[in-house]
Amino acid sequence: MIRARVVRAERTTDHFVTVTVGGPDLARFEFLGLDQCVRVFLRRPGQERLTLPDSDPDSWYPEYREMAEDVRPYVRNYTMRRFDPEALELDIEFVAHDDGGPASSWAVSASEGDEVGLYPEGIYYLPSTDADWHLLVGDESAVPALLSIVEQAPRDLRAQVYLEVPSPRDVRPVQAPPGVEVHWLPREDAHATPGRLALETVRSATLPEGRPYCWVAGENALPTGLRRTLVKERSVPKDDITFVGYWRAGVGGID
Ligand SMILES: Cc1cc2nc3c(=O)[nH]c(=O)nc-3n(C[C@H](O)[C@H](O)[C@H](O)COP(=O)(O)OP(=O)(O)OC[C@H]3O[C@@H](n4cnc5c(N)ncnc54)[C@H](O)[C@@H]3O)c2cc1C
Repeated sequence: MIRARVVRAERTTDHFVTVTVGGPDLARFEFLGLDQCVRVFLRRPGQERLTLPDSDPDSWYPEYREMAEDVRPYVRNYTMRRFDPEALELDIEFVAHDDGGPASSWAVSASEGDEVGLYPEGIYYLPSTDADWHLLVGDESAVPALLSIVEQAPRDLRAQVYLEVPSPRDVRPVQAPPGVEVHWLPREDAHATPGRLALETVRSATLPEGRPYCWVAGENALPTGLRRTLVKERSVPKDDITFVGYWRAGVGGID
């Protein structure tokens, strides 16, 4: 378990806040890969200090569940967007979503010195080496992971990237290799479930020939629905698809 403090927080675009955390504990952070997941522990309103479960990786959860409600922190999954081992700083990009869950609300008002707990987890982006090209798809919750993957991709990567975002003001420049085509998909319907636009767009897209490696994440219906389409209608082998439900519409994280 790593303790860190907010160094700075800034709006990246309309619906994204980048929170940079730092501190000496980050010397123990083990970088595993481009879409590395980190469990983020946050103080609840009214709590004076952040109390963290301190047991080993296999048993933190039972310990967490047994913590008294007045000391138990919130815990949510996020992507490590950038890690700087020299400065001992780590960036996380939070979606500032309209449902205002505890993590999103915390990020929007985060200020220097706020304490967080970080529990590094694993990676999902493990492309098959013999893929001809990559299909990378996500809603806004997966934008940090996808940008991290694309910005650090090898120069010869060929990829089609579909990024659904809440508004045109969330579209930003991307540093990507020349063979990577980025399709931003800003939603026009503010009431549409995130992920639906990306699902429908990719379903009807003309995709490159050859064997793809596919990575899809976001609201649960996007990865599960697109995987079904890719397997049934595009004959993509299941082993060539990484699909991860990052969140579920109408369902909050553990409290
Ligand atoms: C491996 C992994 C990596 C992730 N990386 C990131 C990341 O880098 N950045 C990021 O922002 N999210 C990321 N997520 C998703 C994030 O964990 C969830 O969105 C989380 O539910 C947000 O917590 P909350 O406290 O704000 O809302 P919760 O309390 O969990 O939910 C409250 C309400 O808000 C809704 N909600 C939750 N998330 C969203 C959303 N994104 N848009 C609209 N409504 C939402 C829920 O359906 C619920 O109705 C990741 C998830 C996983 C599993």
